[in-house]
Amino acid sequence: MPVAVVVFTRDLRVSDHPALAAAASDADRVLPLFVLDDALLAGRANRANRTGFLLESLADLDRSLRSLGSGLVVRRGEWTTTVTRVAQEVGAKAIHLSRDTTPYAQRRGARLRTAAAAAGLAVLEHDGSTIVAPGALAPAGGDHYRVFTPYFRSWLAAPRRTIAEAPQRIRLPEGITPGPLPELADLVSGARSPSVVPGGATAARRRLDAWIADGVTAYGDRHDDLPGDATSRLSPYLHFGCVSPVEVLDAAGTQAGAEPFVRQLCWRDFFAQILAARPDAAWSDYRPHGVPWRDDPHAFEAWQQGRTGYPVVDAAMRQLALEGFVHNRARMIVASFLTKDLHLDWRTGAHHFLDWLVDGDIASNNLNWQWVAGTGTDTNPHRIFNPTVQGKRFDPDGEYVRRYVPELAALRGAATHDPDTAVRRAYGYPDPIVDHHAAITEYRAALGARLDA
Ligand code: FAD
Repeated sequence: MPVAVVVFTRDLRVSDHPALAAAASDADRVLPLFVLDDALLAGRANRANRTGFLLESLADLDRSLRSLGSGLVVRRGEWTTTVTRVAQEVGAKAIHLSRDTTPYAQRRGARLRTAAAAAGLAVLEHDGSTIVAPGALAPAGGDHYRVFTPYFRSWLAAPRRTIAEAPQRIRLPEGITPGPLPELADLVSGARSPSVVPGGATAARRRLDAWIADGVTAYGDRHDDLPGDATSRLSPYLHFGCVSPVEVLDAAGTQAGAEPFVRQLCWRDFFAQILAARPDAAWSDYRPHGVPWRDDPHAFEAWQQGRTGYPVVDAAMRQLALEGFVHNRARMIVASFLTKDLHLDWRTGAHHFLDWLVDGDIASNNLNWQWVAGTGTDTNPHRIFNPTVQGKRFDPDGEYVRRYVPELAALRGAATHDPDTAVRRAYGYPDPIVDHHAAITEYRAALGARLDA
């Protein structure tokens, strides 16, 4: 009687899960397994916001699997040896998992294939984390797309895989009973942000349904409205695979005016295919611009804590600490501020984001950071975000700032983004830590010198 193991990683759902569907159709008994990876738990990836979301998502997955007759088996240890050992213990012939393209997942997958081969086990990898698999599309003469627009054109025309039906029933191997999940405090020190979204496929489904019913149609007009918060907020669910990106695309595709939203889903795949082809781009410049970064711990701390004296920057950084989430427009503003006003290395900002973001994702985070910093896929190295102008344009009444910066709660309108010195003194709000125009002149001079060289 064939037995298979399905190892869940960041694909925490039963619906449209090609690896689970394949295991259930190939084997009579299936062991759904999640291994808490000691290497990840010991490292910087283990942060309260994301690990808390992960545990909630695992609990939700366990409930879904129990309703199908099984449950989730959770183990902890060195990932490769634990997966292989569990597969051997239950007499499995095959291990199924979703393909992942981060550098760590690729190394871990290679180690699993070696260990499994030595144990006589097959490892079968399935698509499921993206809409179009990394590597499926390539321009003539290249191994990946470096520019978004041609990728988007080819992505729109690419064949889509069909949705994988959830199995009707899953039978565990004899003698296996799913155990309890660990508590967050057993895994990570430090508290979660006070206003994080709940994890899990059930919450993802609720969010997606609400978004399709009321949100996606207006996205084109409203996605940059900072106080309106009119984006889907699906990113943490997509990152942990609580919802399938193909199901999101299918749901959105039925709605009028969904094109701008679909385009954003494509950005996610675009960055995934870059990272798959260029794993070094996780932490090295994709396209070096040659401008040296400064080292200024004082300025970095002011940025982290939302005390730069630029209201929209400070609001965004405080939103990050409070919610483990930041609006996309605000992410661009604070990333530009760190790299082009403070001249600090994009890697320091990317690390800080990954420490707090629930949706923290190496491909989307680090390659967006590079896009803003001018070392990535943006072909315009001169792109600058003026924080005051951006604030007045995308938060004209100052509501976004007031929500997160209580010192400025009495201000209204454009003045919220440009408080004068007397107002700053009166409300205990700091002076700007840098003069934007002087900083940008310096940045442009450094860049110009490099471009002339
Ligand atoms: P929506 O606007 O509703 O978009 C729908 C989905 O499309 C998102 O959930 C996301 O999966 C995808 N998407 C949208 N914009 C982008 C984009 N620019 N790049 C890639 N995918 C996109 N996104 C992450 O998922 N994880 C990160 O760690 C991350 N870090 C970022 C860091 C910086 C400096 C910047 C500028 C952007 C970053 N983004 C990241 C992209 C984007 O900001 C978020 O995906 C978006 O704000 C999430 O909100 P939403 O789900 O409401 O997005």
